[in-house]
Amino acid sequence: DAKASGGRGVRLYEPDRDTNDPRRLTLVAELRAALQDGQLHVHVQPQARLATGEVRGVEALVRWPHPERGFIPPDEFIPVAERSGLVGPLTTFVLNASLAACAAWRAAGHDLGVAVNLSARSLQNADLVDEVTRLLRRHGVPADRLTLEVTESSIMADAARAVALLHRLRDLGVRLSVDDFGTGYSSLSYLKRLPVQEVKIDRSFVISLREGGEDVAIVRAIIDLGRHLGLEVVAEGVEDQVTADLLAGMGCDIIQGWHLGRPMPTGELQPWLATHARPSRGRGGLRVV
Ligand code: C2E
Ligand code: MG
Ligand code: MG
Ligand code: MG
Repeated sequence: DAKASGGRGVRLYEPDRDTNDPRRLTLVAELRAALQDGQLHVHVQPQARLATGEVRGVEALVRWPHPERGFIPPDEFIPVAERSGLVGPLTTFVLNASLAACAAWRAAGHDLGVAVNLSARSLQNADLVDEVTRLLRRHGVPADRLTLEVTESSIMADAARAVALLHRLRDLGVRLSVDDFGTGYSSLSYLKRLPVQEVKIDRSFVISLREGGEDVAIVRAIIDLGRHLGLEVVAEGVEDQVTADLLAGMGCDIIQGWHLGRPMPTGELQPWLATHARPSRGRGGLRVV
């Protein structure tokens, strides 16, 4: 994973790669306990259509407020979960919490979708199809209100198996999205063969958009590619109005980022919708007021 192993900063020590490291073993034991004790939470971050300002849904992001060590970012504990067999229970937890929240919003008259991240391990687990079926039924959420986000590198870990699983998930009616697009082994030709409906431009490109430079060309190319393949294009990491306007001008469909709203506890979304989600359609596209 290019991001976890450096990207914009060099990480000198990676405890999750060292199976004998005592800190890693402690983290595994603590994560297992956290899952059992209900210490993990799901936060949600809104996504809005640039053309209309409509909040079309949210992305679910797992949170672990560790009792002693404070907030541990998911980029740190997801790899640990992956290597210790805990990612299955973690994914089940996030799916269940996300669909429960989605059902509650729908009952309150907000027909929102919810996007859940899948890790590489989950993409190798054929039981996921039954699991998703069961959870959709349990919460009475239509399949097309659930989007599953996968990264290029997580598919590439075992592409044949992953792609087969994606087809089975797609057969359920679930939406599929390629997350962090542009950072992995981006193969433009395989994108067209994947049964996905959406691409998410990685936030590293979006964040530097307003500075001009090469990332402008990359973002433009991803948007054009997505449009030509009939995919919805989501930009993540949109931190300001200037960036939102630039993306609108390039034909991006949907934005997600601090400009619109920070990730928040599921229970805060409805109050947020009531007080913040009054976007207007100015000439420059969506304006958050
Ligand atoms: P991601 O799926 O690409 O999620 C987007 C990340 O961008 C989130 O980081 C989010 O908090 C952050 N973000 C959103 N808007 C902005 C912005 O305007 N500016 C900046 N600088 N950042 C923004 P987070 O929550 O720390 O999650 C990091 C990664 O951890 C996620 O990247 C995803 O790969 C993984 N992750 C999070 N939750 C889950 C989960 O439930 N399951 C799995 N398998 N992975 C998860
Ligand atoms: Mg994601
Ligand atoms: Mg992403
Ligand atoms: Mg990511």
